[in-house]
Amino acid sequence: MLKKTSKKEVEKHISEFFSNINDRTPKEVKKTRRLAMKFKIPLKEKRKLFCKKCFNPYKTPKTRIKNKIKSVLCENCGSISKWRIKN
Ligand SMILES: [Zn+2]
Repeated sequence: MLKKTSKKEVEKHISEFFSNINDRTPKEVKKTRRLAMKFKIPLKEKRKLFCKKCFNPYKTPKTRIKNKIKSVLCENCGSISKWRIKN
């Protein structure tokens, strides 16, 4: 069993993963998110790069901003994610 993963390595892996988010599959996104959770690595802004319901990376998201709330429609499952926009 190969288990020599440091938190730093995982952080690097996650950051590389999200820099190429458009080439990733929902399955990979889910796996990476789980990895981040396991190592207690906060995804922060990276969470906004994929659908929280089906883990589909947002490629051409339909974005709408209203009352300082940004909504993104997932082109895969149709679920809408909302985030408050910070000033
Ligand atoms: Zn979705």
